[in-house]
Amino acid sequence: MNSDMDICKPLDLQKDGQNMMNSENIEKVRCLIIGSGPAGYTAAIYASRANLRPVLYTGLETGGQLTTTTDVDNYPGYPEGVTGPQMMEDFKKQAERFGADIRFGIATSVDFSGKIHKVTFDDMKIIEADAVIIATGATAKYLGLESETRYAGMGVSACATCDGFFYRGKDVAVVGGGDTAAEEAIYLSGLCRKVYLIVRRHELRASKVMQDKVFKSGNIEILWEHQAINLFGENGVEGATLVKKKGTADEETVTIKIDGFFLAIGHTPNSVVFKQYLETDQVGYIKTIPGTSKTNVEGVFAAGDVQDPNYRQAVTAAGSGCMAAIDAEHYLSELK
Ligand SMILES: Cc1cc2nc3c(=O)[nH]c(=O)nc-3n(C[C@H](O)[C@H](O)[C@H](O)COP(=O)(O)OP(=O)(O)OC[C@H]3O[C@@H](n4cnc5c(N)ncnc54)[C@H](O)[C@@H]3O)c2cc1C
Repeated sequence: MNSDMDICKPLDLQKDGQNMMNSENIEKVRCLIIGSGPAGYTAAIYASRANLRPVLYTGLETGGQLTTTTDVDNYPGYPEGVTGPQMMEDFKKQAERFGADIRFGIATSVDFSGKIHKVTFDDMKIIEADAVIIATGATAKYLGLESETRYAGMGVSACATCDGFFYRGKDVAVVGGGDTAAEEAIYLSGLCRKVYLIVRRHELRASKVMQDKVFKSGNIEILWEHQAINLFGENGVEGATLVKKKGTADEETVTIKIDGFFLAIGHTPNSVVFKQYLETDQVGYIKTIPGTSKTNVEGVFAAGDVQDPNYRQAVTAAGSGCMAAIDAEHYLSELK
């Protein structure tokens, strides 16, 4: 594997022998799609129906984030709901039906310096593309507790909009002190009986407006200077163990009874590999020209969570995948 530094280097600057390509490892395509979540597959459906003969690389997580969840109840067209893996299998089949070429591989370096965009997969194969659609998603941050993994999909969630509905009338906790945490707590307070907001510091980082909303809500209790250290329960989350004022003389252990544990400590957009060429915001979300999927590099488009700090839903990701394919089609038709 390349070092992190190498990953960001233009290909012609990579001196490492393993990256010296022969022509068999180079393939030319019109439209390359990177990522196999709702954004990538939707882009593939539209691009293949527009006869762009797209090649899509899935990345490590074939099907994207939704393959890590059970019930998806809010995607239109599934009146009875659907499991995340099944939904993504349906997306894939639909893209394949129109001829999308779907392959396994991870983009490890890019060269967007010329008119032909070069993307290397698995440090081995170079795809030269006229248009590239980046749909690599964003990864939610977790605290790193072993019990978070154990209860994944059984009471632990990083998305209140996605999973809050399953906790109507129940008690839940939200971890975080920024705007996202305040927003998630306020959203859940409209559905749940009680919301604990677990805040590591003695103040919120959230904006004044969001703080006021939290303080005014009748059923959000802020647990200042608390840190979650464990989750417990028989067949799902039934409670959390917290440490109050950790590392001080007043340190104490507290337990709360909850049915749901929501992380709201941020996301990491999967954009590192493109950062040398593409403008991002401070967090790493790829910047697009408002109302389009166009990035600062002509012929490179971004769709889904990797360019969306606000909504991060399957339906918005799919919608922006459609936009990216249409933008790519317009771009390619003008290239001719
Ligand atoms: C547990 C959970 C439950 C959720 N539930 C819901 C829900 O009920 N309803 C809802 O609307 N939303 C839900 N979401 C949010 C939803 O999953 C995301 O908004 C959506 O998947 C974003 O789609 P995307 O296509 O942008 O990216 P993702 O789904 O994140 O897919 C990104 C893709 O990019 C690939 N990739 C990443 N890096 C590379 C690389 N270097 N090279 C090649 N490929 C790469 C990955 O392998 C993956 O295939 C949930 C999220 C989680 C985590």
